[in-house]
Amino acid sequence: MSAHHAPSSVEASSATGKVRGKVGVRVVGRPDSLEQRVYLPEVIRGLGVTAKHFFANLFSRKYTVTVQYPEEKVKYPDRNRGLHRLMLRDDGQVRCVACMLCPTVCPAHCITIVPEETGNQNEKRPRIFEIDELRCVVCGLCVEACPCDAIRMDSGVHAPAVDFRGDAIQTKIDMLKRGTQSVATQGGVGSDWRSKQPSVKQYDPPK
Ligand code: SF4
Ligand code: SF4
Repeated sequence: MSAHHAPSSVEASSATGKVRGKVGVRVVGRPDSLEQRVYLPEVIRGLGVTAKHFFANLFSRKYTVTVQYPEEKVKYPDRNRGLHRLMLRDDGQVRCVACMLCPTVCPAHCITIVPEETGNQNEKRPRIFEIDELRCVVCGLCVEACPCDAIRMDSGVHAPAVDFRGDAIQTKIDMLKRGTQSVATQGGVGSDWRSKQPSVKQYDPPK
């Protein structure tokens, strides 16, 4: 068996047979030496790595990355997406205004909202707000879409194991129990937001 390390070249031709250029090709041969062909040194080296980790973990657990869950728990990163929670207004009511943006954006179609009137002609609120956590793909798009910081996934809580399909559905009450008061300003810049808008020049169509 011989190795061919010398670069050679082939000619690239167009469909008409006219030579248009040369492409370099480096031919790499199979391993020649006995050491490479029997693979034994590499096998021994691999076994050495395995033995090193085995004995290190046996006596010191130096390379062990697993934890004894649930007795031992690791801290979730701040951006971990846990069970959903619904945030509260200054007056303790649900912040959600049932705008339906989150069920619209949800790729798993697992959010169900039934709105109701609040008595304030400018706002609605959810009478029913449910999320099927078995269908949720934990993408976080509902949180991104919400215009008023009403829904979050920073609860740090796992979706629980359930025995029955229906138990996987988080209700409005479940999610409100995890909710806290939002730091967002209620109503954005305030009720007089129109007066704070920059004046917009009216469109003047060409005559
Ligand atoms: S995290 Fe994604 S899949 Fe889950 S409810 Fe929100 S939008 Fe739907
Ligand atoms: S949680 Fe936010 S996005 Fe979803 S309906 Fe309520 S206000 Fe709209």
